[in-house]
Amino acid sequence: MSNMNTNSPSRVSRRDFIVSASLTAAAFGLAPSYLSAASQNLVEKARQSGASAKITTQNLRANVNALIGSGGNIGVLTGPDGKLIVDSGYSGSQKQIADALASICGDPIKHLINTHWHFDHTDGNEWMHSAGAAIMAHQNTKKHLSTTTRVEDWNFTFLALPSGAIPIDVFDAEKTIHLNNANITLKYYGPAHTDGDISVYFAEADVLHTGDTWWNGYFPFIDYSTGGNIDGMIKAAEGNLSMVTDKTIVVPGHGPIGGKNQLIEYRDVPVTIRDRVGALKERGQSLDEVVAAKPADTYDAKWGKSFVNGDFFTKLVYKGVGPNKQT
Ligand SMILES: [Zn+2]
Repeated sequence: MSNMNTNSPSRVSRRDFIVSASLTAAAFGLAPSYLSAASQNLVEKARQSGASAKITTQNLRANVNALIGSGGNIGVLTGPDGKLIVDSGYSGSQKQIADALASICGDPIKHLINTHWHFDHTDGNEWMHSAGAAIMAHQNTKKHLSTTTRVEDWNFTFLALPSGAIPIDVFDAEKTIHLNNANITLKYYGPAHTDGDISVYFAEADVLHTGDTWWNGYFPFIDYSTGGNIDGMIKAAEGNLSMVTDKTIVVPGHGPIGGKNQLIEYRDVPVTIRDRVGALKERGQSLDEVVAAKPADTYDAKWGKSFVNGDFFTKLVYKGVGPNKQT
């Protein structure tokens, strides 16, 4: 386990980038062709990867750290009020995550924030709640975790979580909390990756956790089954840019820690592909015709290495643009 000191996003080393990017690919990415493999399920396979996940701990600034390697990136604020954690990873990684948390300091786990309801950000809720965490989230996150929820694009139906794993402290638009001598602002994006995405901003450390509204170096998944859509994802990408300066350290839902420059680079990808796909759909092209036109091709080699390759991202965009768009 490494404990790297990064005072600004630009100081995240090339080695960190490679390590965390490959961990993300291993933990969630799998082969792009994976979705077509009927015998296996993306969700089950990703959950299985939790048991062998290796957690990298990165000190971001002051008392804010990131744990990378089990599902979505995890944020950790330490201090006298106990640890506040952002997202809980896979449950199969409980031991590794608990060890990583203990290696930062001995503060007990007291608070957990879920950036949205997806399993790779909430499967660890149950053990973290048992360890002492009160769970906060957007009200729609609580709604999805409280009931049977199907994600069509993952071909998977999730059961309700046990009661202790469900957020009790929910909000709608915005919430500010004061803990560990820090001001922490939770802000709802509106429908984007799901219908319950929030950002978590640590003001004193100037660290922003974007949840899955930002995938650093990967085409993002968009969950239309629970209220996500491409226009909302682009709006969230603009919103993230408006919340940062050159000094802000930004924790994406997936991919390595970054900053403003990477947020700008990312935003242009969905904007360009939405414009291309939208123009083709307006001309009356079918989904198959648009996918065959390869509108994401120029980005695929760099951004298509997770389970969302260029063709899959094109399908996700197609749903949310032009005639009969799904929002
Ligand atoms: Zn997600």
